[in-house]
Amino acid sequence: MFDSFDLFRRQTAPLMACNGNNCCGHVAPIQPDLYYALWRLTRLFPHYSISSGFRCRTHNTAVGGQDGSFHMLGMAVDVIPTPDHTPGDIRSAALRIHLFADGGIIYHKDSGSVHLDIRADGAYEFGW
Ligand SMILES: [Zn+2]
Ligand SMILES: [Zn+2]
Repeated sequence: MFDSFDLFRRQTAPLMACNGNNCCGHVAPIQPDLYYALWRLTRLFPHYSISSGFRCRTHNTAVGGQDGSFHMLGMAVDVIPTPDHTPGDIRSAALRIHLFADGGIIYHKDSGSVHLDIRADGAYEFGW
């Protein structure tokens, strides 16, 4: 599955667009490294769906995102495990991807989603 990074990126791009109601709908500037890290994750662990990628300021505020959220910079994605897997399974797989292991891995208990980002200032984990 997804042997080609370019194919993965093309098919994933629409899922990374801002998805707020009456919002911009932009496919915005997702950082190439985020696509690459997600592609690597998918090859290890394809058991997830994307719930949030890029967020414009309007959408980020609407969902209570932090000011300066990595979602607004195209550096973060929220994923939800398929019913037969757990958020911990996603975490375990993400820890094997350098860009995520050295970035952010956050568990949002309220939504059951796992936030993955490629921040460059060191490994950050929260919510586990
Ligand atoms: Zn928007
Ligand atoms: Zn997030």
